[in-house]
Amino acid sequence: MSKFWSPVVHELTPYVPGEQPRERLIKLNTNENPYPPSPGVEKVLNDYPVDHLRLYPDPESLALRQALAREHGVEVGQVFVGNGSDEVLALAFQAFFRQSVPLSMPAITYSFYPVYCRLYDIAYRTLALGDEWQVPLEAFDAHSGGIVFANPNAPTGHGHGRDVIARLLERVTECVVLIDEAYVDFGGESAVPLVEQYPNLLVTGTFSKSRSLAGLRLGYAFGSRELIEGLERVKNSFNSYPIDSLANAVGIAALEDSEHFNACREKVITTRERTRRRLMNLGFEVLPSQTNFILTRHPDHDAAQLFVGLRERGILVRHFNTEALRDFLRISIGTDDEMDSLTEVLETLVG
Ligand code: PMP
Repeated sequence: MSKFWSPVVHELTPYVPGEQPRERLIKLNTNENPYPPSPGVEKVLNDYPVDHLRLYPDPESLALRQALAREHGVEVGQVFVGNGSDEVLALAFQAFFRQSVPLSMPAITYSFYPVYCRLYDIAYRTLALGDEWQVPLEAFDAHSGGIVFANPNAPTGHGHGRDVIARLLERVTECVVLIDEAYVDFGGESAVPLVEQYPNLLVTGTFSKSRSLAGLRLGYAFGSRELIEGLERVKNSFNSYPIDSLANAVGIAALEDSEHFNACREKVITTRERTRRRLMNLGFEVLPSQTNFILTRHPDHDAAQLFVGLRERGILVRHFNTEALRDFLRISIGTDDEMDSLTEVLETLVG
């Protein structure tokens, strides 16, 4: 508590990211990619002319936005970039969701969304997930102050197809629908092709997961020019440079290497399915996943104890201490060797 804090800061419960361990652990707790970024990224970093860091970066990040536009088949004016998708999401909440009517979101989704709501004084209501742990798109109120959800959703891993998203957008036309596609490259279906048709659709994405660049902080959004301008207005009010020069150069190199990108995501998907089968053989319930993580629980074993048991044996996973998720562990997909170690330890813990 401090007399210098404004009232909202007193009320704030900041988002707590997954632990970054100091010791050497098998780290399966924050959905990072187990494989290194493209060799092209390494080349950019090795060859980067250090003198360029004397200068401010391109205020429009034009080359990176052009590369993203090409990759996703949209116009450069429909692309926005920021320091990780967390920043892009923060700007979107400020630009679009400070309305007189509450924002709608699923009851279980990325836990940063409620944090932003509290920070920016946005009223929100939550909707229970469906029987298959799916985001209940049909239950979203068309008269909300906005709609936000991750697709595929986190930490459940379920994703809706583009046709289902299009049906939502046919019905909800008067507020912004923000779809967070942080995990879409691991088996989901992107809604980006719909931005041309629906001016209220904003889709965010990140280089942190499928491009193996979580340490760089690079995220983006696709939307109508109207929405992109809204984001730019908020952004430019406190920082007119979107991202730093190195991030621009590295991001372009990562986008250019589709071979490496596809090979890594295919490996992650194969390992995920293999891990899922093995955990099911050990008696775990494992939700189907279109992401680089799985959500799992064991009918006879307490998740908090399994978390501790894994940690004691050098494996870090995620346990959320919320009512809805208390029974579950969320496990990021690592290399095959890492997942072999995980299943071996779990076998001793539940066997
Ligand atoms: N959205 C979701 C659903 C996430 O899980 C994450 C990662 N924690 C992010 C966005 C943010 O990713 P980044 O800021 O690294 O782009």
